[in-house]
Formats: sequence, C-alpha cells, structure tokens
Amino acid sequence: KTPEIASPLRTKAIMNAYGLTFKKSLGQNFLTDVNVLHKIVTAAEISAADDVLEIGPGIGALTEQLAKKAHQVVALELDERLLPVLADTLAPYKNVTVLHQDVLKADLQQLLATNLDGAHQLKVVANLPYYITSPIILHLLNTGIGFEALVVMMQKEVAERLSADPGTKAYGSLSVRVQYQMDVKTAFIVPRTVFVPQPNVDSAIVSLTPLKTKQLLPFNEAAFFKVVKGCFAHRRKSLWNNLKSMFGKEETQKIALTRALAELELSPQLRAEKLTVQQFILLVNKLHELEL
Ligand code: SAM
Repeated sequence: KTPEIASPLRTKAIMNAYGLTFKKSLGQNFLTDVNVLHKIVTAAEISAADDVLEIGPGIGALTEQLAKKAHQVVALELDERLLPVLADTLAPYKNVTVLHQDVLKADLQQLLATNLDGAHQLKVVANLPYYITSPIILHLLNTGIGFEALVVMMQKEVAERLSADPGTKAYGSLSVRVQYQMDVKTAFIVPRTVFVPQPNVDSAIVSLTPLKTKQLLPFNEAAFFKVVKGCFAHRRKSLWNNLKSMFGKEETQKIALTRALAELELSPQLRAEKLTVQQFILLVNKLHELEL
C-alpha cells in the first residue's frame, strides 16, 4: 500500500521524482507529519457534509486527508510546477479539483460557484503561505462568502495577533478587523520540526468561526476599518493624536473630536490598544454622528 503523501519518505520520493526544489519566496514549507494533519482535519470537523477550499496544496499532503473526509475539495495552487505533481499524487481522489490560481487575485465567489454544487457547508482549511497570511485572511473575509469556518495554520505570532485581547501587545488593527466578524480560537501549536524545510518559527492552527450575532454595527464597514487602522497608525501615540491626524486639521474638527471622546467617556490620552471592538464601533458611529 502506498504510504500517505505527508510521510517523510513519500514526500522525499515525490520531490526527487519531479526534481522539485522548495520555493522559499512562495512560503513552501511542507508538512511531513500525518498525525498533525489528522489533528487539523479533526479540528475542522470535516465530514461528508462539507466542501473544503484549500489554499496552497503543495504536493497534496493536507489535500489527501481532506479528500478522505469531505464531500469535495477545491485547492488553489500558485506554483505551476506543482500542478503535474498534484495531478499524480491526488489521482486516487475523485472529489478533488486543483486550480492554478493566486488566491489573492482569485474571484472566489465565481470560482466556488463553478466548482462546487453549493449544497454543502463550506470550510477553508489550509497550511497558509506565511508571507501572505494576513492578506489571505482579509481577502477571505472581504469576499462575503458564507464560510462555516476557517481552520488555518499560520505563524504563531500572527495567531497571537488574531486572537489578542485589548490591552495586550499583540492587539492591533488586525485583531479588531478579524474579531469584529469572527470568533477566534487557537486550536493547537505545531512545532517547526514537522516541516520540510524547517521554518524559523513555530506555527499554530487557528479556528475562525463567524459571529452569529453582532450586537452593534458600524454605520459603514469600510469607514470602520479605516478608522481602526488610523487609530493604530502610530501605536505609541494617544488615541487623540491619531484621530487628530485623520480628522482634526481645523479647530471645529478638533472641538468635535473632543466632544466625541467625552460623550463616549474615552480619555484622549488612551491608546488605541485599550479599546474593545465594541468601543471602536461606538467611536466610529459617534464620529459619523458629529459629521467628522
Ligand atoms: N499544503 C501543503 C502542506 O501542508 O504541506 C503546503 C503548504 S505551504 C506552507 C504553502 C503553499 O501555498 C505552497 O504550496 C505555495 O506554493 C502555495 N502558495 C504560495 N502563495 C500562494 C498564492 N498566492 N496562492 C495560492 N497558493 C500559494
């Protein structure tokens, strides 16, 4: 019986057979531990009720494990060299579609509509290319596709930023942007030793699920994301200074800003990292109300 793709020997054999080298520029660190892959599939609770979007299948290590449990798997791979490899390694799995795509440029809505039946729950499961982890997550959130869950591996430090609480060092605009929409949980930590080549950082599996009810909504999402970003533009500066750079060139605007903070009982000396997602929403709506 052929060993699983992720087994170290098979991975090596595949790399040799195709004369493949790892492309560092594409974040190619392949998983060679079948147990870790099983844990990812379990964390994502993949069943025949699910279709899965995978980003960056590599030589198919995770894809294979997903294909065994899911209804359908659509995998997007940017590296053209890997397409013939994947056609070969994944040949036994009839429920897999591999597409040559840059995930950041892909029209996901269109692509999923074309390749899936639309009758199954959709989950994203991936060992992400680390150099574009945040852009990929934001791209997925911005597409407006109703994912049941995103269960993705990333650098541990990015996982900490995604799940950070207010008042901590890791808390920033990315935390607010993501937590506004998603419940974020770190499922488990993965040591660097299970990858080839071995990266310089440890990894974490993060599970993101859409918040069922949002108590409070910003008057406009784009404006909300913009203000949050602006409030963190200079982390060491106060909320007031960052807001002033965005809104307060004129005296009337400064007066309105002062009033907005006072009405929300936010000290101008506060730093953005102290504000909860809710407080950011209140702030954005108040600024809008005062015509800033
Ligand atoms: N899934 C495999 C595994 O777990 O062993 C490989 C994961 S590797 C960390 C990331 C993969 O993403 C690589 O195969 C890389 O070529 C691919 N990739 C990098 N940038 C991409 C992009 N913009 N769109 C799609 N795939 C990309």
